[in-house]
Amino acid sequence: MASLEDMPFDLHTHSTISDGTEPPAGVVRAAARAGLTGLALTDHDSTAGWAEAAAAATEQGLAFVPGMEVSCVSDTGISVHLLSYLHDPTAPGLLEEIERSRTSRLTRAQRMVERLGEDYPITWEMVMDHAATDATIGRPHIADALVTAGVIRDRSAAFTSILTPRSRYYVGHYAPDPVDAVRLVLEAGGVPVFAHPLASMRGRVIGMDLFRDMIDAGLAGVEVFHRDNPEEARRTLRLLAREHGLFITGSSDYHGAGKPNRIGENTTPDEVVARIEEQATGSAIVRP
Ligand code: AMP
Ligand code: FE
Ligand code: FE
Ligand code: ZN
Repeated sequence: MASLEDMPFDLHTHSTISDGTEPPAGVVRAAARAGLTGLALTDHDSTAGWAEAAAAATEQGLAFVPGMEVSCVSDTGISVHLLSYLHDPTAPGLLEEIERSRTSRLTRAQRMVERLGEDYPITWEMVMDHAATDATIGRPHIADALVTAGVIRDRSAAFTSILTPRSRYYVGHYAPDPVDAVRLVLEAGGVPVFAHPLASMRGRVIGMDLFRDMIDAGLAGVEVFHRDNPEEARRTLRLLAREHGLFITGSSDYHGAGKPNRIGENTTPDEVVARIEEQATGSAIVRP
């Protein structure tokens, strides 16, 4: 009899539908090679990869959890990522917000490329060459163009230099408020989980007031096991989870070759996946 640890899920991965470097089926194959039981595909602000991932998962004998990572920004300008599992992808409230973010991401990236183009040999066409059709455009695609142009070594180097929010080339984009996003995910029948909540190396993190407001709005879980959460923050998160009855997930945030994160480097046990499944009313886990 296999133990729960032998049946892990990776609940946070990205494909070329957003800023990962492998198509949805490629991400599923990577999960199968890693020996996982199942995975969630959680592209930024898009569910366009669900069908391909579900078909590939069935072929590979893996369970597929439809998901998405909703970009949010607090009223003080802090970036928050909210994972949504098993929501209805056609629910209008959430759909309108992610479409608004995606449109804003596009114009924002164009503005950043205009600014960068004044100092570096980079054009919008070069950025588009690194993005799949209808992908959710982000700074990683700009980073890839800068790598091709020989300006920087890799995405990570871009994110610690010319693409940081402190850079003169940086432009922000529209994104919903985190508390509103929690409500919209719930309204869409989904299960909201706070992604890498205290990842201070990514930039400023939110304070406890906003965190508690998200919990009061119905936040269901926190992604404690993620390489960007510092060790001491994990303790805080576990205490908070216990106090408020939130479940805990672990995930890789795999982006293919776009990040060092290895698929399955953190995992979530079957019992937590069962809790997500119980709570969701928007869509279903696809089981082999
Ligand atoms: P954006 O959504 O356009 O603001 O860009 C943020 C995205 O860039 C996140 O979703 C991450 O996946 C990615 N990212 C952030 N930091 C890094 C890094 N150091 N290396 C590679 N990708 C990163
Ligand atoms: Fe990303
Ligand atoms: Fe994220
Ligand atoms: Zn992510």
